[in-house]
Amino acid sequence: MGAPDVKLEKWFKGKSAAIAITLDDWTPGQAMLGADVLMQMELPATFYVTLHNMQMRPSYGHWERLQQLKDLGYEIGNHTMTHPDLTQAPTQQCIYEINEAKKILDSHLKGVPVETFAYPHGRFNNNAVEQVMHGHLGARAFVPGMPTGIGKWPEHLNYYADKFFYDFANSEKDYFSVSQFRVNDDVTPEHIKRLMQRVMTKNGLVPMVFHGFYDEENSLDKEMYDAMHLQTFIALLESIKSLDEQVWITTFTNAVKYHRAAAASSINLKWYEDYEDGGARYEFLLRSVDPYASIKLHPLTLTAEITDGRRCNFVSQGSKELDFRVVGNCVQFEVEPFESIVALRLETI
Ligand SMILES: [Zn+2]
Repeated sequence: MGAPDVKLEKWFKGKSAAIAITLDDWTPGQAMLGADVLMQMELPATFYVTLHNMQMRPSYGHWERLQQLKDLGYEIGNHTMTHPDLTQAPTQQCIYEINEAKKILDSHLKGVPVETFAYPHGRFNNNAVEQVMHGHLGARAFVPGMPTGIGKWPEHLNYYADKFFYDFANSEKDYFSVSQFRVNDDVTPEHIKRLMQRVMTKNGLVPMVFHGFYDEENSLDKEMYDAMHLQTFIALLESIKSLDEQVWITTFTNAVKYHRAAAASSINLKWYEDYEDGGARYEFLLRSVDPYASIKLHPLTLTAEITDGRRCNFVSQGSKELDFRVVGNCVQFEVEPFESIVALRLETI
């Protein structure tokens, strides 16, 4: 009987694509309206904080709010000190804007340090990329020639969707200009569904960029760039959430960490033993070459196809027994991305 076919899934839990909900600038409307909506809907997201914007509401408890979000698993990312166009900034200012913001966020917030960056106005050049590469794992950007959102051209949705595919990072540098999708009032829940249906066929990652929010009582961000009514935000989030079965909704850093872990890993049959009762034990070598040995990448999902009238009754990584779930004639489970033996024990039904 043949060994089970084991494959490494492109995204966590074997989902077909990934969405990272991201909120830029840390506006009052995000702090006071948007964050609550995300929490109530139990949707993960990344807040890219521009430190200077805290001065818009100096009496507001910004750090308490950010710590609360972080403790709940939200990612707090770096969006510079004052939101300059980094392509126009001299190198020294560029370094200051990037490093100082990270330093302040890291010193005020408990938990993992800041891991990802979003370029102000989405704009970057080689110099900015070089600076961000020190101390971050990835960055979200507006890539020229790539979609900036639906805008006035919803009929071009398929064209935009095709820009989001799995192999978006062929080099280390590519992780520092991951293309983003701008979401404003022009985007409808139907657009999001159509976009993602298409992106799923290419297993893409779509970082969706939101800005300010307002409602009847809180005009807050109303005059700001790409601001939307809170009800619009809720409707868009509902359409994102409805894709949950097929699309991994996560933070930007988790998506980057999974993508990195998958790119650095492979799995191959190493050894097996047939038992007299028809069962067998298969051992696979999981290789994972992590250039960031000091950073914990994301657990990987593996799927093993079990045939020949057998079923799996035990999965382990090294000496650790793993939980697994049955999906059709497969079992699916998560492993940590480091070099180790992944073993499966099968029995006849
Ligand atoms: Zn911004």
